[in-house]
Amino acid sequence: MTQVSRHIHINGIVQGVGFRPFIYNLARTYGVNGWVRNSASGVDIEVTGETNELDVFQADILHSAPPLAQIDSLSTEDIPLKPFKTFKIIPSKDKSTDFIPVSPDVAICGDCQRELFDPQDRRYRYPFINCTNCGPRFTIIKDIPYDRPKTTMAGFEMCPDCLEEYENPGDRRFHAQPVACPVCGPQVWLEVTPGIHHAEKNDAIEQARQLLADGKILAVKGLGGYHLACDAANAEAVARLRERKERPDKPFALMAFDIETIRQYVKVSTATEDLLRSPQAPIVLMQKKTGDNIAENVAPGQANLGFMLPYTPLHLLLLEKEAGYPEVMVMTSGNLAEEPILRENDTAREKLSGIADAFLMHNRPIHRRIDDSVLTTVEDQPYPIRRARGYAPNPIRLEDALPQVLAAGPQMKNTFCLTRDRYAFLSHYIGEMENWETYQDYQRAIRHYESLFRIQPQAIGYDLHPDYLSTKYALKRAEAERLPAYAVQHHHAHLAAGMIEHGIAPGEQTAGLIFDGTGYGADGTVWGGEVLLGNCDNFQRLYHLKPVPLPGGEVTIRTPARMALSTLWAYGLPWKENLSPVNALSAKERSALRPQLEKGINSPLTSSMGRLFDAVAALIGVRERVTYEAQAAIELEALADEDELGYYPWQMDGSQINIKPLLEGILTDLSEGKSQSIISRRFHNTIAELCLELARAIKKEFNSQKLILSGGVWQNQLLLEKTIHLLDNNGFQPLVHRQMPPNDSCVAFGQAMITAYRLMKDKE
Ligand SMILES: [Zn+2]
Ligand SMILES: [Zn+2]
Repeated sequence: MTQVSRHIHINGIVQGVGFRPFIYNLARTYGVNGWVRNSASGVDIEVTGETNELDVFQADILHSAPPLAQIDSLSTEDIPLKPFKTFKIIPSKDKSTDFIPVSPDVAICGDCQRELFDPQDRRYRYPFINCTNCGPRFTIIKDIPYDRPKTTMAGFEMCPDCLEEYENPGDRRFHAQPVACPVCGPQVWLEVTPGIHHAEKNDAIEQARQLLADGKILAVKGLGGYHLACDAANAEAVARLRERKERPDKPFALMAFDIETIRQYVKVSTATEDLLRSPQAPIVLMQKKTGDNIAENVAPGQANLGFMLPYTPLHLLLLEKEAGYPEVMVMTSGNLAEEPILRENDTAREKLSGIADAFLMHNRPIHRRIDDSVLTTVEDQPYPIRRARGYAPNPIRLEDALPQVLAAGPQMKNTFCLTRDRYAFLSHYIGEMENWETYQDYQRAIRHYESLFRIQPQAIGYDLHPDYLSTKYALKRAEAERLPAYAVQHHHAHLAAGMIEHGIAPGEQTAGLIFDGTGYGADGTVWGGEVLLGNCDNFQRLYHLKPVPLPGGEVTIRTPARMALSTLWAYGLPWKENLSPVNALSAKERSALRPQLEKGINSPLTSSMGRLFDAVAALIGVRERVTYEAQAAIELEALADEDELGYYPWQMDGSQINIKPLLEGILTDLSEGKSQSIISRRFHNTIAELCLELARAIKKEFNSQKLILSGGVWQNQLLLEKTIHLLDNNGFQPLVHRQMPPNDSCVAFGQAMITAYRLMKDKE
């Protein structure tokens, strides 16, 4: 048989996932010789063997790739015969203009968990155990190609035992860059007085567990930053954490040792269990069971609790099951207010010492901070709420190659997005761009992504809102680098994000029900209850909620009672004495509000659907003032009756949705003493029925059955599932986000798609 040689190039997530040892072992199985190496754009292989051997070798690369690998393309080329004698893994080659995707961080794998609790293992109870299949990635990578010197593990020299594992292609730790052991790797310690080691290694963990059991608040350095932890069953500890963190109501995330424990507190379906156990190990929102012993103040007014499993060995050791120790920990971001999660030991000491009673620290630096991801399931499929650890920086795959652009993203729940070839790098959750720290972190993150993925934007997209920090960044940078800049209307970006995520061609006219909190409208008013028809170039506003005033802007967003009164006023309905929002405001506030509305002083108009939810929640006495975004809507949803089928009427005035009949229906129900739970459910049903009527109108006029459901209001699961059900049953095709959140964290992706499309059109 004649021997031939081939060059194989593979693109995708193939570094840091055990790909080279997999190729090595495969080559040995088929008896082919040659080499494999990482390049800055993927993995290169050269092999010599018989044609049929090489064919099966190649097919097997695609069929049996390691679980964390994601192959985007495999190309081969016949090359002149090379007489290789063996198969080798050779050093990386760096070509600085190429790029490859970088693996997100991966939750501890089953093998490492077994070793962690095996007294015979040399890494027994070592809190940084990891292997090729698990451990830190994105958070420790400074640059590519992914090799140890380019990670924050560079400072830890491997001991002979670790080195042997690292160099042995048959070992599970072959080329696992963060490989470490108690002899050579990072260590933990406990500080009670900041700066002074109170205990080290296992002692530190033992004492930290004791502090949690005693009701203390612990700052724990994890994978993507610091958490604040306390015993979730201890209401007094939770209250202290709330008071010190100045976070009165916003729900806390929880962590428990295993699924069995989680099952005691929430309803776990097959789909949510899969998510909890996935390598991404996100926080998963699940329905609360009644009669649990989680402190009520962990998630006040919520129907759901957010749980995650321990995703690092340190978390497992902290939660190990033992009588007298907490079964479930509160695990909330270690930060102040809306600042970024803290990642450095010094700043954590400085900023968290007023909150935490002690610090469980370690000396493995975190290069890139990242929050925990949050997901729920809708129709048994994952539905993202916050996309961060475990998911970013995985790119969104595109149908077509795009020019390199940057989308600066929105103000709230900010992410940014960079494109290159057939990838859109939608960043991890950055957060609320309201303070200097977040803005600094945002700029650093953009530079990091641009350098990791070798991207030089040719155009910049930004939100129409002139005051957003992201808008200012985009315009400043476009001017400095002389790049074309494209303003993108907020809800148009939502529509485009949904379209491209679902593989709709960028030029195809598509309709969307874009229900959101706040977005700067093309006419300068505040939009948010919009039905748009458009593509990646332009759009038209088909229908929208009839605008009502937002007196004083921010103050009314924080005070749903004001929104309720403003809405009643706009529809000519009286502020009756017995109404909750009337009683919630002082006589002085009310007498200032009325002339403000009548004269239109500092009262921008809004068609926001989020604000309508606020108004209804306040009108029926669920929530008059909020301490976190969407609190009123979340509490309104949580108490909705399960079985009620009724709904209220509404009226279409041309392109405007007139909700006066709806408000009158609610007022009648209130006067007849109907419960909040019945009224809430009727209101949710009404919005779903409204969607159906809008869908029918769109179909009649534009013959379009596809409907993008995007915007923060679609985090409302009751509304979403009811709407999907109604649309499905009536022959429509509702399209919901699956790879990115429906809230403003998807806006950057839509901006990027519109920017790239407009840039290509302008260059034609
Ligand atoms: Zn592992
Ligand atoms: Zn070692």
